[in-house]
Amino acid sequence: MTSTKLTSFLSEKLEGLKSQGLYNEIDPVEGANGAIITIKGKELINLSSNNYLGLATDERLKKVAIDAVKTYGVGAGAVRTINGTLDLHLKLEEKLAAFKGTEAVISYQSGFNCNMAAISAVMDKNDAILSDELNHASIIDGCRLSKAKIIRVNHSDMDDLRQKAKEAVESGQYNKIMVITDGVFSMDGDVAKLPEIVDIAEEFDLMTYVDDAHGSGVLGKGAGTVKHFGLQDRVDFQMGTLSKAIGVIGGYVAGKQELIDWLKVQSRPFLFSTAVTPADVAASTEAIEILMDSTELQNRLWENSDYLKKGLTQLGFDIGNSETPITPCIIGDEKATQQFSKRLYEEGVYAKSIVFPTVPKGKGRVRNMPTSAHTKEMLDQALTIYEKVGKELGII
Ligand SMILES: *Cc1c(COP(=O)(O)O)cnc(C)c1O
Repeated sequence: MTSTKLTSFLSEKLEGLKSQGLYNEIDPVEGANGAIITIKGKELINLSSNNYLGLATDERLKKVAIDAVKTYGVGAGAVRTINGTLDLHLKLEEKLAAFKGTEAVISYQSGFNCNMAAISAVMDKNDAILSDELNHASIIDGCRLSKAKIIRVNHSDMDDLRQKAKEAVESGQYNKIMVITDGVFSMDGDVAKLPEIVDIAEEFDLMTYVDDAHGSGVLGKGAGTVKHFGLQDRVDFQMGTLSKAIGVIGGYVAGKQELIDWLKVQSRPFLFSTAVTPADVAASTEAIEILMDSTELQNRLWENSDYLKKGLTQLGFDIGNSETPITPCIIGDEKATQQFSKRLYEEGVYAKSIVFPTVPKGKGRVRNMPTSAHTKEMLDQALTIYEKVGKELGII
């Protein structure tokens, strides 16, 4: 029998979300998550995936994944520290270290897992973490897991960061202090002010941790935000994901050899959760090789995103202050945002509404993720639909 407490908790909470327009309906994609997707039999221009470089459906990645299944089977069979470490995992980690320009890399099952793993392997209740207020949920949860004191810093406010770093150091309360930030902020597409963050970190002897989930594959010729600013030697933890631009699944932390050695013996998802499958590891390695060989995919990504941004701006949409391909269309009200996204869908564009709690209340938006796999014709068609729906709903 179900607990009556649970039943009343769930029905009250679900009703609450639905009445505020905050309940997210999930639409299954029928087939590949490419530039065009099919949902309920309907073809749509896809502006919602994180598949920035189109690698999720790349033939080269598919081939090595199939080959890996033939040779290694479908599962790694164990956690990394028992005997789930295949030669494929080490090859991926070596490639990633070369790509990122660091001494070593440890890979995990996801980017989310990296943040669960790495922060609490190093930080504890006697430490403090200076965390940007717009940091990703996995950073927030990773910080909480560590039990360190979390000091929220106003978004990209360097005066606030310096002030709070100074106070934390002068308080004498903490053993170690870390500053942690997204490299690219996923809801607005702005880039962290890493050169200033690193200067402040050096002034106050803070550890630096950059979560580059949306920077990897996109900035710094694909190697990420830290490389973009030339700061490889000045950032302690470079976390990245293999699930977004790399097109597969997984995550990694790049840094000094000793840090990686420590994470390999201390970080719990590495010790207690099964290693990534052979096919995924092989496909990720292939993707990194492709990115190291050529910037063709990145160039096309940036061309497409510049084109889409220019088009939306000319139509009169508020696209915020994005510096990357992430292109929000800020609508504001949650219900209006969902209505806008629904009408885009009916007209043939899949651009998901993003509302509270993913973004602050009153900052609802439809977030567009152009990729290198989109053609100009697709983007033109999307812009025509944006114009129609924008005028119809009185947004432009
Ligand atoms: C998506 C994302 C993650 C999680 O990465 P996964 O590999 O999808 O688990 C972590 N941090 C940020 C900033 C992200 O955008």
